[in-house]
Amino acid sequence: MERVSALAKRRGFIYQGSEIYGGFKGFWDYGPLGTELKNNIKRQWWKSMVYDRDDVVGVDAAIIMNPKVWEASGHTQAFTDPLAECKACHHRFRADKAEGKCPDCGGELTEPKKFNLLTEVYIGTVEESKVKAYLRGEITQGVFVNFRNVVDSTRVKIPFGIAQIGKAFRNEITPGNFTFRSIEFEQMELEYFIEPNEGPADKTFDYWKDARKNWYTGLGIKKENLRFREHEEHEKAHYARKAVDIEYQAPFGWSELEGIHHRGDFDLKNHNLEYKDEDGKGYTPWVIETSGGVDRAALFFLINAYHEDPSTNSGQGRVVLKLHPLLAPYKVAVFPLLANKEELVKKAREIYQTLKGKFYVAWDARGNIGKRYFAQDEIGTPWCVTIDFTTLDDETVTVRDRDTAKQERVSVDKLPSYLQNKLEQ
Ligand code: ATP
Repeated sequence: MERVSALAKRRGFIYQGSEIYGGFKGFWDYGPLGTELKNNIKRQWWKSMVYDRDDVVGVDAAIIMNPKVWEASGHTQAFTDPLAECKACHHRFRADKAEGKCPDCGGELTEPKKFNLLTEVYIGTVEESKVKAYLRGEITQGVFVNFRNVVDSTRVKIPFGIAQIGKAFRNEITPGNFTFRSIEFEQMELEYFIEPNEGPADKTFDYWKDARKNWYTGLGIKKENLRFREHEEHEKAHYARKAVDIEYQAPFGWSELEGIHHRGDFDLKNHNLEYKDEDGKGYTPWVIETSGGVDRAALFFLINAYHEDPSTNSGQGRVVLKLHPLLAPYKVAVFPLLANKEELVKKAREIYQTLKGKFYVAWDARGNIGKRYFAQDEIGTPWCVTIDFTTLDDETVTVRDRDTAKQERVSVDKLPSYLQNKLEQ
């Protein structure tokens, strides 16, 4: 974990938020490569949830909503975690995660009190007329409050889904484990609306459970590091009839990556929203939800991809970030073999420019080739293209594969399609 977070900082994936002012607990900033990783995760998610399907559309709702939304949704009342304080060191913890004693000093804990996770904000110009609102605690409500708008303005028919990606905020009692538990984070969610029938609802639930797990394994998460965990009655959120987590085996233990929730008619009913079928019969649909964290996905994809090869280096081994090529920040890096040979640099620049229109491409002309491979391996670039003297004679380049270190000669005119094919494999 320490090595992953050190790499994340050193190579520009994730920085501590407001670092030059000593940081701010629970907040993180994504650097140039982390931004690419996160965007790639979101792009792949959106592709699989919206573009590849006929029954899902997307929305992008406001972060701050009328506070009545949170009254109706039950969050002002029930969006709580149990807070306990250590009687000895006075540190505060989530009682359900503390295992009966203070995790810092082993001291006795107070009886837990309910602590609301919603983050308050004040909207308005003049002090007296400021209105208390909330930063959304889950992005979900933005979908529900637009249910009628979406039904009226598109051609969706039940069963259908609404997808959304966006920021959420929670006043977490104990932010920690790097970005795993943050106060500001991003969610990617699907609300899938169905007829209120027990049997088909269970089937839909199982369908999404499997679909979501397969999405992670399809992008390289090792099967043995994922598991389902069903919530026990006392753990369930106030809206959930049934909840199953997809957990990842993190260095700090099995941890929730995504939740699949059967929300029944809880939300639409609370917002007084109905659906009319083709015969004009009105009813309140049920909702199966898949709710994943973009930051948790980014963190677990990084941890899952982190690989050290001890044999090639005396100190810390050669680091290879074996990210799935679709998630890797750069798809390809281009090098002139020698930086001081003008004809090589010129040819390499040409190839770089051609690839640039199609992929996100890195350029490196520093140091020797070995060092450049090392630097690209560390950030997960799947392919490196070297332009050498043979290129000038026969218009071929060397393509080196990150995971096998094997090299292949590929002709320059076929290079874009060669890389595209590899990417789609
Ligand atoms: P936990 O039990 O870890 O507090 P939760 O059950 O409250 O999580 P949900 O309300 O189901 O989480 O939220 C859906 C998803 O949003 C989670 O699976 C997770 O990926 C992400 N998420 C929730 N809280 C945080 C957080 N504080 N920081 C980062 N991601 C979060």
